[in-house]
Amino acid sequence: MTQIGLPVPPGFVITTQTCLEYFDGGFKLPEGLADQVRQAMSQLEKSMSLGFGDSEKPLLVSIRSGAAISMPGMMDTVLNLGLNDETVRGLIKRSGDERFGWDSYRRFISLFGEIVLKINSDLFSNAMEALKKERNATYDTTLSSFDLQGLVETFKRIIEDNVGKPIPNDPYEQLFMAIEAVFASWNGKRAVDYRREFKIIPEIANGTAVNVQAMVFGNVGEHSATGVIFTRNPSTGENVLFGDYLERAQGEDIVAGIRTPKPIFEMKQVMPEVHRELLKVRETLETHFREIQDMEFTVENGKLFMLQTRSAKMNIAAGMKTSVDLVNEGLITKEQALMRLDATQLTQLMYSQIDPENKTPPVTVGLGVSPGAASGEVVFDADEAERQSKTHGKKIILLREQTKPEDIHGFFAAQGILTTVGGKTSHAAVVARGMGKPCVTGAGDIKINAVDESATIGDHKIIQGDVITIDGTSGKVWLGEVSMVEPEFSKDMNTILNWADKFRRLGVRTNVDTPSDAAKALRFGAEGIGLCRTERMFNAADRIGIFQEMILADSPEDRAATLRRLEPLQKEDFKAMLRVMQGFPVTIRLLDPPLHEFLPSEEEIQRQIDMLQKSKIALDNVCRLPKILRTLDPQLEPFLTGDQQMLNSLARLQKSELDKKLETLQKIRVLKEVNPMLGHRGVRLGITYPEIYETQVEAILEAAAELIKETVAVKVEIMVPNVCTAEELKRVEELIKRVEQQVTEKTGVIVPYKFGSMIEVVRACMRAGKLAEMAEFFSFGTNDLTQATFSFSREDAENKFLPLYNQLKILQDNPFEILDVKGVGRLMSITVEWGRRSRPDLEIGICGEQGGEPSSIEFCHAIGLDYVSCSPYRISIARLAAAQAAIKEKKGGHGKTV
Ligand code: PEP
Ligand code: MG
Repeated sequence: MTQIGLPVPPGFVITTQTCLEYFDGGFKLPEGLADQVRQAMSQLEKSMSLGFGDSEKPLLVSIRSGAAISMPGMMDTVLNLGLNDETVRGLIKRSGDERFGWDSYRRFISLFGEIVLKINSDLFSNAMEALKKERNATYDTTLSSFDLQGLVETFKRIIEDNVGKPIPNDPYEQLFMAIEAVFASWNGKRAVDYRREFKIIPEIANGTAVNVQAMVFGNVGEHSATGVIFTRNPSTGENVLFGDYLERAQGEDIVAGIRTPKPIFEMKQVMPEVHRELLKVRETLETHFREIQDMEFTVENGKLFMLQTRSAKMNIAAGMKTSVDLVNEGLITKEQALMRLDATQLTQLMYSQIDPENKTPPVTVGLGVSPGAASGEVVFDADEAERQSKTHGKKIILLREQTKPEDIHGFFAAQGILTTVGGKTSHAAVVARGMGKPCVTGAGDIKINAVDESATIGDHKIIQGDVITIDGTSGKVWLGEVSMVEPEFSKDMNTILNWADKFRRLGVRTNVDTPSDAAKALRFGAEGIGLCRTERMFNAADRIGIFQEMILADSPEDRAATLRRLEPLQKEDFKAMLRVMQGFPVTIRLLDPPLHEFLPSEEEIQRQIDMLQKSKIALDNVCRLPKILRTLDPQLEPFLTGDQQMLNSLARLQKSELDKKLETLQKIRVLKEVNPMLGHRGVRLGITYPEIYETQVEAILEAAAELIKETVAVKVEIMVPNVCTAEELKRVEELIKRVEQQVTEKTGVIVPYKFGSMIEVVRACMRAGKLAEMAEFFSFGTNDLTQATFSFSREDAENKFLPLYNQLKILQDNPFEILDVKGVGRLMSITVEWGRRSRPDLEIGICGEQGGEPSSIEFCHAIGLDYVSCSPYRISIARLAAAQAAIKEKKGGHGKTV
């Protein structure tokens, strides 16, 4: 600021390098530093015509932290350093203001006590409060000079009582102790937590500098003040000076909320000159830094001093508005406008949010796995959720231990999903994210009691119909309703995303399974469907029964016959989806999950069998009743014959139902697997039950053929899941070709389509060259590929050991969220290289959850993928992140590489 001509009190900087040397040297100030500091101080004394420790004309200094990355409020500052019993007299004499002298001294002692000597700050504030009470004073400004002098003595006593010796008198001793304290604050809990949260690694910022600056005083006389202001409003981006100031105060008063500060526009009336000057400063700083600034200033006797400026932290709405405005004002380029935004924050604009003013504490916290907030009545099963929502129009939160594909209708019916187990890529999480519904998983404090359909959280019992609120961003859960705010969409967002589209090379597709989600994704800017999980189609209410019949069928013929009934329903689904997508590519994945996921659980069937068996005993007793009655009173005979028939037919029904359930139970037991995720699923299923894939392919190709006849543009991509050998792919390719021929004969239409493989298995990566001889495209399923690479169960890792792994830095991130570039990423880049060696025009995308995460997108760009595919609500993130990756590469960054 000095260099651009702004009024800044003189001072000097001790570098971050010195801070690191201080840590490395076992918390000792490096050799030679003391001399350099003394030299710099004597320069400062000269430029201020004051003396450090001088009892007539004392120089006072502030000691502030300053890291390479701004971490507002995370580190420490000491003000008014250099005061002691003698220099305070000099300060009073020089300023002619006794009250100011004692006010500055009591501030110094308490700050030094708290920051340097680590004394609990409450001791000082309690003493201040007690004095204010005694004097009947609302504010510190009404305390007299005498009162403040008394407070100085009290504060000195607090220090002596707590550290066993008085506060040092020697200003240099004070200075060196303060420098060490500011260095140490780099490793204070606040600062460490902040760096962890915002991923500030040593490569970005390492250690803090210390700024030693001559003090200017906002607490001297009537025409002094201090303030914290922004060059534009950081909540809305509005182009006005924004912030607060306090008269007769020092910096920390604003933050500490000792008095209510005044909005900066009021300064126009009270100190018009200074206000005008601030407007000029605002312009100078923005023109220089080409960024919105967050500044601290002090006015000493009507003269403005700028103490600090840094790039302002803003929410994403303000970020976008200011990006657009700064471009229009000619201050930055479109590239710069895009690069200054945090793509992840775009999700803030897509969902209802918990009101930031909400004060109600949550009752428990799980994993926030699908953002947004929702309130509704608790329901424990999907059928009931559908009933309550459809019939009674209720808002529902589906609460389950975990969800299964058969619960899909419950997802549609619910406002939000809460599960007590599972992680960020559990079924509930993936489905909810895909639908853009709030979801919290792994809320292990909640215990569900399946018997009486209730749950408990600590002492609270929850029954169906009780209202709860979940926040899928933070993972918090509340009993009752919590107020929310609606999502904001703006013109600026469209402008930004349209700019992003011009810069990005990566395509952006979406993972959706229904036409309505597909339409939503198109509105958000999707350029195709990268993953349509067809299993959701088998789970719809009108087909799950038929599909279960198919699974339970005894022969391939019976299975094929049952599947015939499903084919027309599926064809209509595909037609609707392809029609909505208007000729954009639609990647349809053949059935993936193990079959048992479509059947009721073993426990559920066992419960039904128990019920039927109990009813048999009751029925037997009722069946015996006519005989007993006849024996007791033969005259009843005419009344008993008809009823006997009804009882017989009930007994028959009961038996046939029981037989069915026993058969289902047996089938479930046969299908049960120890490790279903590594078991009979994906292409393995298609090879053992080819009828399933045949039906699906027929439905897809017929749907496309019928649309082509209607002159609707279609682009179909058929994708095979969980492939690990070329032979598997070959067999499915042959199957598809067979069906294709039948469809062409039947419809007279040749349907163009692409045939491709998901890459989710390590062996598939290693055989990429061979697979690419058949596959026209690859899609990285990085949920499974991460699971396979780490040998971490994706269902269990996130709520068992991963948090600790992250905390202990065994792993920096959750690899199910952020692509593990070094392991999974390495496999991906080999796959790309080998795949394209066999087929140079091989189309390659990613459809795992990481496909919507900015740093993973940067990596996908760097290794040359063609597109990323993510849930509709992350499309805008992907558009922006893809543009940022391209701009970074253009600017000479190599992008994120292995
Ligand atoms: C994947 O494994 O990354 C994937 C997209 O498939 P799913 O999550 O359905 O297993
Ligand atoms: Mg998968």
